[in-house]
Amino acid sequence: MIVNVIGAGFAGSEIAYNLGKRGVKVHLYEMRPKKMTEVHKTGYFAEPVCSNSFKSEEITNAEGLLKAEMKMMGSLILEVAERTRVPSGKALAVDRNAFAREVTKIIEGMENVEIVREEVTGFNSDEGIWIVATGPATSEGLISFLRELLGEDFLFFFDAVSPIVTFESIDMSGCFWGDRFGKGNDYINCPLTREEYEELWKALVEAEVIEMEDFDRRFLFERCQPVEEIAKSGKDALRYGPLRPTGLVDPRTGKEPYAVVQLRREDREGKFYSLVGFQTRLKWGEQKKVIQKIPCLRNAEIVRYGVMHRNVYINSPRVLDPFFRLKKHPNVFFAGQITGVEGYMESAASGIYVAYNVYRILKGLSPLRLPEETMMGALFSYIIEKVEGDLKPMYANFGLLPPLSVRVRNKFERRKLLAERAMKAMKEFLEKNPW
Ligand SMILES: Cc1cc2nc3c(=O)[nH]c(=O)nc-3n(C[C@H](O)[C@H](O)[C@H](O)COP(=O)(O)OP(=O)(O)OC[C@H]3O[C@@H](n4cnc5c(N)ncnc54)[C@H](O)[C@@H]3O)c2cc1C
Repeated sequence: MIVNVIGAGFAGSEIAYNLGKRGVKVHLYEMRPKKMTEVHKTGYFAEPVCSNSFKSEEITNAEGLLKAEMKMMGSLILEVAERTRVPSGKALAVDRNAFAREVTKIIEGMENVEIVREEVTGFNSDEGIWIVATGPATSEGLISFLRELLGEDFLFFFDAVSPIVTFESIDMSGCFWGDRFGKGNDYINCPLTREEYEELWKALVEAEVIEMEDFDRRFLFERCQPVEEIAKSGKDALRYGPLRPTGLVDPRTGKEPYAVVQLRREDREGKFYSLVGFQTRLKWGEQKKVIQKIPCLRNAEIVRYGVMHRNVYINSPRVLDPFFRLKKHPNVFFAGQITGVEGYMESAASGIYVAYNVYRILKGLSPLRLPEETMMGALFSYIIEKVEGDLKPMYANFGLLPPLSVRVRNKFERRKLLAERAMKAMKEFLEKNPW
C-alpha cells in the first residue's frame, strides 16, 4: 500500500525517511517552491523558518531528553543536524541551508520515496493512507478541505497564548483560591499591592516585543490585545482590565487587593496554570522578567511562553485518537505542528511516532503508545487527552512527566532522575517492540 505524506517539513521528512528506508512506498507531496508559504524562503525540505537552533542536547534539559529519545527511535533530522552543526555552546545549532539541503538530497535519493512537487487541496479519505504534516503555514486550499473533513470548530488559525507555569513552582503562601464574587474556587489569585502593581506595569511597558508580520497585526487588531499594549494605554488600564480585583476578596485581609493576577488551570491533573489575560508578544527573556515581578510567581517555572502568531492547528483532543489518526477516518493521520505540538524537534518527534505506528499497522500489528515516562509519550498524551478546554500548542517540558515516586527537592537532581527513568523506559519499550 502507498503511504501519502503531505508536507515535507520536519515531521513529513522524518515520516518519508523512516518508512522509505523500511521498504514502504511513499508519495511525498510538497508544494514549495511552486507555491511558497508566508514563512519559508527556499524549496528545501525541513527548512528552519526562524532560529537555526534546535536547542539543548543535555538530557537534564527537556529538549535534550526529547532528542535523546528521538535518536533511540531513529531520526533523520538529528543525523543531518549532527553533520551540519555550527558551534553554539550546549545547544545543537545548524547551518540552516546546508542542513535543509542535505535532508532534501537524502530523501530525493530514496528508492521508495516518490516526490510530488504539488499543492494538495484534497484527497479521498477512504482510499490509501494519508498523513497530513503541512505545519503552521498549511495552504488555504488544504485548509478549506480540512474544514469540511473536520468541521469548522476543529481548526484553529492563531496562537494567542498566555505564559503557562507549573503548579508546584507557584508560591501558594502568597496567593488564594477563588472565583469572582465567591462563585467557585477554580482560580489561583496572586494579589498585588500598589507598589507591586506599579513595578509590574513599568516592566511591561519597558519590555522588548517581537516584531509582527502584517497578518498577525490584523489579527491583533480584530481579536485580542496583548497585555503590554493594554499596559501602554495607561497606568490603570490593567487594573480595570485583566488584573481587576473586583469580587476577589483576599481571605487573609478580608479586602479586595489593589490588583490581582489570576491563574487558570490548563490540564485535567492541575499541573499547569496560565496567567489570565497575559497573551503577549514580548520576547521570552522579557516575559520571564515581567512574571518574576508578581510575588507568588517569583520562582515560577515557565513551561510555555506566551505567543501571538498565525498558526494552523487542529483540535487534536476532539478529532484524533492516541495514534494521531482521525477518529472518524482511521486511515488519515496528522503529524507535526498541525497536531498542536510546537517546535522543530517536537514536530519531527511526532513524525517519527506516526511513522512507527503506520509501519506497525502495515505489518498487521496494533499501534502502540509510547511509555508515559518518556518525553515523547508524555507530550503526545498531553495533546490528546490531558488538556482542559481548547488545545493550546505545547512543547517538551519536564512538567509533563509523571512525578518521581520520591520527592527530590534539588531541581537538577530531579531532572536527572526523570531523564534516566525516561531513557530506561524508551530502551525497554524499543527492545520489546522494535521496528
Ligand atoms: C513564524 C514561525 C517561526 C517559528 N520559529 C521556530 C523556532 O525558532 N524554533 C522552533 O523550534 N520552532 C519554531 N516554529 C515552530 C514549528 O515547529 C516549525 O514551524 C516547524 O517547522 C513545524 O514542523 P512541521 O513539519 O509541522 O511543518 P513545516 O516544517 O512547516 O512543514 C510543512 C510543509 O508542508 C508544506 N505544505 C503546506 N501546505 C501544503 C499543501 N497543501 N500541499 C503540499 N505541501 C504543503 C509546506 O510548504 C512545508 O514544507 C516556528 C513557527 C512559525 C510559524
